[in-house]
Amino acid sequence: MNKHSNIMQRTSNPQLPTIAKGEGVYLIDKQNNRYLDACGGAAVSCLGHSNQRVKQAIIDQINAVPYAHTSFFTNDSQELLAEHLIAHSEGDFSQVYFVSGGSEAVETSLKLARQYFLEKGKTDKKYFIARKQSYHGNTLGALAIGGNLWRRKPFDPLLAEGHHISACYEYREQRESETNFEYGQRIANELETMILDLGEENVAAFVAETVVGATAGALTPPEGYFKRIREICDQYDVLLILDEVMCGMGRTGTLHACEQEGVQGDLQTIAKGIAAGYQALGAVLISKKIVDAIDNGTGFFQHGHTYIGHPTGCAAGYATQLEIQKQNLLNNVKRQGSNLKKALKESFDADVLVSEHIGDIRGRGLFLGVELVADKASKQPFDPALKLHKHIKKKAMENLLMVYPMGGTLDGVNGDHILIAPPFIIDEENVAQIAERLNKSIREAIL
Ligand code: PMP
Repeated sequence: MNKHSNIMQRTSNPQLPTIAKGEGVYLIDKQNNRYLDACGGAAVSCLGHSNQRVKQAIIDQINAVPYAHTSFFTNDSQELLAEHLIAHSEGDFSQVYFVSGGSEAVETSLKLARQYFLEKGKTDKKYFIARKQSYHGNTLGALAIGGNLWRRKPFDPLLAEGHHISACYEYREQRESETNFEYGQRIANELETMILDLGEENVAAFVAETVVGATAGALTPPEGYFKRIREICDQYDVLLILDEVMCGMGRTGTLHACEQEGVQGDLQTIAKGIAAGYQALGAVLISKKIVDAIDNGTGFFQHGHTYIGHPTGCAAGYATQLEIQKQNLLNNVKRQGSNLKKALKESFDADVLVSEHIGDIRGRGLFLGVELVADKASKQPFDPALKLHKHIKKKAMENLLMVYPMGGTLDGVNGDHILIAPPFIIDEENVAQIAERLNKSIREAIL
């Protein structure tokens, strides 16, 4: 049998190299090929692959006690990490709920939103509004609210109908006649229209990634967009759930991407970089008003997973956060992020063949996206059948570079794109290597 589904790929596809070890920003396979990790897998490995202090923290926790169910005990690691996250957020959060990953964090936040309104006697508030390209996880609830057609389609009909407003996609949505601010207000106002269409008494929450990651390649929000979204949510008693599973935990240069928008969610999901990939961990930051409503109401959140508050996961998460502070890594994210954007542009500009297919280079910090188009002037994407993004990934692996590719997913109108999200520890030399290898890989894929 030589055909492998992606289920097989995840276990034993012989076509994939077998990983042997990690060293700093490199992953090394059994043939001793050293891949420069320019995507952290999927924006996960923010400390690189061999941080001794995080490893030691995990070993110490395992030696003390690897696991204790949270219905019997709390543990120092989860308490310390929760305190740290609350202290370093500008939101009015009073509790943190630790789960095993991003999808669980999103599911948890949806149920918290529902229960919040149940406690307030607003039992009809059960719809969720999200955005067109959005991906919030692969479990059925998270999939049902997300707007990513490619991921939704095979499982239609989903558990709930999806309600989606514009994607927040400046490169393709902003009109020439409007300023960035005007554009942001226009598409934010779609939320108000949809709430009114559905009936404000029926809408529980709006869910959005602060900076869109995997599905469209680092889409940053237009100026003032989230402030207007916050206003609309407050006006209609709709909760704002910010999904920072991918863009959060330092990726964009601040610990939480929403800090740069001057806006806070009522619930905020985080995962991926929280424990830098050394352990599987996700979390929901829960605002005081939601905690109070549940505490003063039924007093019991109807939820739970076996691995909530996992001591080893939280030990890795706490050590990761201390490491980010100790090495002052957010400064490096900002510095190398702007170096990398510049290096990518220079390298593409110097290559006529490649540059005519670079539609957009965007993003913030070390969370960058490159969108490829067949025609720069019309922004016409490549034929999706070509699967250009997959060819680029293949060429990049041959050139010992890891990047995260995605095809056009927004109703077929956006182009192939590449997400770049390297570890926060990259240096100037790595930046130059990423730009050079990516340019070479795109050139080889296009030819
Ligand atoms: N939300 C966002 C924004 C994501 O990018 C992802 C994963 N790519 C998820 C949720 C789901 O996270 P996980 O894969 O850890 O379940």
